[in-house]
Amino acid sequence: MSKPRLDGKVAIVTGGASGIGAATARLFASSGATVVVADIQDALGEAVAASAGPGCTYVRCDVTDEAQVEAAVGGAVAAHGRLDVMVSNAGVLLPTGSVMEMDLAELDRVMSVNFRGAAACVKHAARAMASRGGGGGSIVCTASVASLQGGFGPASYTASKHALLGLVRAAAGELGRHGVRVNCVSPSGVATPLSCAIMGVGPPELEAMTVPHNVLRGKVLRAEDVAEAALFLASDQAAFVSGHNLVVDGATTAVNPAVL
Ligand code: NAD
Repeated sequence: MSKPRLDGKVAIVTGGASGIGAATARLFASSGATVVVADIQDALGEAVAASAGPGCTYVRCDVTDEAQVEAAVGGAVAAHGRLDVMVSNAGVLLPTGSVMEMDLAELDRVMSVNFRGAAACVKHAARAMASRGGGGGSIVCTASVASLQGGFGPASYTASKHALLGLVRAAAGELGRHGVRVNCVSPSGVATPLSCAIMGVGPPELEAMTVPHNVLRGKVLRAEDVAEAALFLASDQAAFVSGHNLVVDGATTAVNPAVL
């Protein structure tokens, strides 16, 4: 099978200034897409867009503000005439504590980015895609293995990613009539700033925990491994894949942990 391509497609990547989003923006651009990097870290986002490729741009977009999401989508359509791909990737993990100690204000913050923010991205991307003559488009949400099981972060994070998977499944069912596909990518631990914060290690230590592909389970992924999965879902090679949760975890959630 040839490598997926995105020639002529216009993509928005939220959370594109760092980690998985930055790797996705760069891979999509090198695969032929014009990419709009959307984030709240302006300097990093500008740098990712500049390094991704010609025509790629940065837009400040806080996904917790629906008006900013609508404006980012509208801006991409105004500048490029279309929106083909939305990667709703912006996410946070906050130390909300154990369930009995849970800080509900922080729970709201996690939900507002990971779930409500993603819902705004799905809503406005779907509107732009469906209203185009002929419809069509691909929405890819970065969920997590926490969309499937507890124990991969605080309960607030787990709940936000379970909710996101539910949203993706419901949206996939509704939007098929417009030719819009909606899927998740669900990685286990990835070497990004988010993981450094959780694990209390620096980028070099985390990088050292990534491994060659002949040793998989329980290891730390590279952001590029997740970007490749998103590329497939975004591309026409996944033309009939919708409502799917593409788990990228080296079999971590497939196997009894006792045999890891
Ligand atoms: P990261 O911290 O490197 O990147 C997240 C990006 O999202 C940052 O650039 C940040 O500025 C941006 N962001 C945060 N809040 C935002 C908001 N309100 N509006 C717009 N942008 C916002 O983290 P990452 O590891 O690359 O995480 C990307 C996604 O992958 C997240 O959804 C995360 O939950 C998910 N994920 C990460 C891991 C992991 O181990 N790192 C595993 C599974 C899933």
